[in-house]
Amino acid sequence: MSITPWRHIANWNCTSCGDCCKLYSVVLNFQEWLRIVKSFGVEQTVPGLDKLFIKRREDGSCAFLSSFSNTYACNLQYMKPRACQIWPFKILTRPSFGYGTEAAYHYGEHGLYIYVDSMCSGLKYGTPTPEFAHQTLKEFVEIATGFRNNQHKTTGKISLPRPYLSLLSLSTRSHY
Ligand code: SF4
Ligand code: SF4
Repeated sequence: MSITPWRHIANWNCTSCGDCCKLYSVVLNFQEWLRIVKSFGVEQTVPGLDKLFIKRREDGSCAFLSSFSNTYACNLQYMKPRACQIWPFKILTRPSFGYGTEAAYHYGEHGLYIYVDSMCSGLKYGTPTPEFAHQTLKEFVEIATGFRNNQHKTTGKISLPRPYLSLLSLSTRSHY
């Protein structure tokens, strides 16, 4: 994992490459776990020693990842766990990964430190654009701190209509 402070990033847009959904386990809080269990069944989750996770397929990908012509979409769009909503950014109250000046971000009275996982292919490096600094990152911070849940700039460009997602939900469930 390679971590970069946000001031090294010009802009970010999810390209729906699906890489993050193939490589990482998703940790769920209890409410997220309950919502998934009610809608998709407990078999789509996995208990760890002290954490709950989304089940991964044999190839390592998330059980809710769907693909269409080499682009990928999340089958949990409207109940996506917070860990997925704020990926690939890490929003912290301390400069845990260094770069104190380049990672510092002010949100109201709050002093935060924002980093990004550089494995994400949606990153463009350079001087942050005003849109990235003041709109995209603001949305990530508001989701991370619980002030908002709906995603506008913080998700992939590929969005699927709800009826189609319902069909995908059924096919995902019967896959196992
Ligand atoms: S967040 Fe990044 S790694 Fe994940 S699907 Fe989007 S572009 Fe790919
Ligand atoms: S829940 Fe959705 S966004 Fe999160 S890893 Fe699974 S497919 Fe990707």
